[in-house]
Amino acid sequence: MQTPSCKYCEAQWSYGETFKNIFKPRMICSHCGEENYYQSNSKNSWITLFGIPIVLIVALLLDLSTSLIILISIILVIVHIALFPYRTQLKKKEKK
Ligand SMILES: [Zn+2]
Repeated sequence: MQTPSCKYCEAQWSYGETFKNIFKPRMICSHCGEENYYQSNSKNSWITLFGIPIVLIVALLLDLSTSLIILISIILVIVHIALFPYRTQLKKKEKK
């Protein structure tokens, strides 16, 4: 797993830098100032979220308490968000 690198200057973005940019439509490279865009490519990018229904089913089978189920779901969501920078790929601004 790797953090993305700028499509213009090839500088690798740090985890924090990527994370700050993730929630913006335009991701400005702090090295060269160019605009990069989020490229969604990986098929398994939502795999942690797909894990939630599986956890729920297992929890029901094991008869776990509701609060424990909620806790596990929250942890999965946090893990999902925390791993976002590693799944992010950048692409150049599309020319029109
Ligand atoms: Zn750059």
